[in-house]
Amino acid sequence: MSSHLIVECLECGHQTQFHPRTYTCPKCDSPWREARYDYETIANGLTRKLATRPFDLWRYSELLPLRKSGEHIILGEGGTPLIPAVNLGMMLGCHNLFIKDERHAPTRSFKDRQAAITISALKEADITEAVIASTGNVAISYSAYAARAGIKLWVFLTSLVPAAKMREVALYGSQVIKVTGSYDQAKKIAAEFARQRNLYLDQGAKSILCIESMKTISFELAEQLTELLGPPQDAGSLGRTAWRSPDWYIQSVSGGMGPLGVLKGFEELQKMGMIQQVPKIAAIQTEGCAPMVHAWKLNQDSAMPIQSPRTLIATLATGDPGKTYTLLRQKMQAASGGIMESVTDEEAFRAMHFLAKMEGVSMEPAAGVAFAGLIKLVRAGVIKSQDVVVINCSGHTMPIERNILGESWSRDLIVPSQAMEDSGIEEGLLAALSKVAIDRFPRIAIVDDHPDVRRLIRRILQAQGNYTLFEAENGREAIELARKEHPDLIILDLMMPEMDGFSVLDALKSSSETADIPVIVVTAKELTTAEKERLKGHIQSLMQKGDFMSDELLDEVRALLR
Ligand SMILES: *Cc1c(COP(=O)(O)O)cnc(C)c1O
Ligand SMILES: [Zn+2]
Repeated sequence: MSSHLIVECLECGHQTQFHPRTYTCPKCDSPWREARYDYETIANGLTRKLATRPFDLWRYSELLPLRKSGEHIILGEGGTPLIPAVNLGMMLGCHNLFIKDERHAPTRSFKDRQAAITISALKEADITEAVIASTGNVAISYSAYAARAGIKLWVFLTSLVPAAKMREVALYGSQVIKVTGSYDQAKKIAAEFARQRNLYLDQGAKSILCIESMKTISFELAEQLTELLGPPQDAGSLGRTAWRSPDWYIQSVSGGMGPLGVLKGFEELQKMGMIQQVPKIAAIQTEGCAPMVHAWKLNQDSAMPIQSPRTLIATLATGDPGKTYTLLRQKMQAASGGIMESVTDEEAFRAMHFLAKMEGVSMEPAAGVAFAGLIKLVRAGVIKSQDVVVINCSGHTMPIERNILGESWSRDLIVPSQAMEDSGIEEGLLAALSKVAIDRFPRIAIVDDHPDVRRLIRRILQAQGNYTLFEAENGREAIELARKEHPDLIILDLMMPEMDGFSVLDALKSSSETADIPVIVVTAKELTTAEKERLKGHIQSLMQKGDFMSDELLDEVRALLR
């Protein structure tokens, strides 16, 4: 069909034309094949052409397996923002963290790239009925695009998929078949159903269309990083337009299609001389379903399937990754390396809650897995502070799952009936409202010469508690503030110009008015033994900037205010 690409068998090298309904190599029957383009020709003048195109998924049409642009099913896919994670970066001591915010996709997950390309290709090939199995998001994405394209979709969902997601699939008019069993079982049943009726079956990571769609993430990242950080330093050697690639691409992984496609995208950019190196991949799985991570850590080239995944995160419940693992591992090793790592559901929930509080980014638990992985890898020293890191925020959470927020996320507002009768509804409400929060909050002074650090600490405190906060930007102000406001706690930086934290402490401790105020020192400095000795007995706690996460600081604060 499309003449600008050929399909090459990864087993035997046999080459064919591309057609969506050809699933395997006609020569050796292998399902593992890859699209190849004429990279030399495409690279010529590509950036000039791109300059005039909108920033969406279709701008890379030369490198996509579609021909007729009139058949594209468009809902606003691709072109998602890349946003610096400044607060998270400060807390981890990493200053080049970027969130690829796939929540902006039409159905709020990065599966929309896959759905846009696949459903458009089906329309181009006059295919009017299709079958998929899904852990949730693929079903939602495909259903939306299929609705638009007039394609009938049979969706096989594992019964673990949250009911709200199932209803959304049904809303788009797809036929939902709920399979009481694992995702891998649902996949097998879907395949059998498609075979019996001779219907198109989405092949996931084995599908040329799906892998090709994921490449658009790489292309966008290279363009966006170049815009944000400027071209790479020794761009001269690249000859062509020099784009930037990140040092790391982090994604939560179920079947592994995302990283496989992203790697292919970067490989193509490298073939075209547009980037210097393919990034390292960090593929993060949830501990209750981490067949790839187990195999990776044992240095095995095939993964043992997990029969019954034990995770609350249904999106990531692929127990049997099949050969996708083998391919992904090969590709990661052939490129700059990378890592597969797992995190617990709890770590993912915590990361998810943390990103919402600290960056204003609310995501679904599956995406939280990637962020929990980031935190783990930074702490383990695998990801270095200067590395340029992109984390795929792969999907939005709707609705918020209850077990993430705990019990105390809301306050009950009960209007006393007596007050209402006496003074009218409004006053009764106001009176009740005053009971929602106590009058006097604990008072905390934040002393730091960097406004960003003061803002970060303020945010950490405000996101989880009610405090009256004061700020001072130098030692002199800090002492005045302590005398005037007499805070319940001081959070003090050591390294400040003119009057440093040590002198502030000396001054506070030498006055009876301020000597009893507890002090937490937060410092970026490696302290000498003499300096530690000097602080001893004068402070309640010492925290290192860059490696404290909000919970630790908050725990200290709460303990001291008790
Ligand atoms: C599908 C999905 C993943 C996992 O993607 P794969 O690359 O297929 O392993 C992660 N997060 C979300 C939100 C998803 O929908
Ligand atoms: Zn073959």
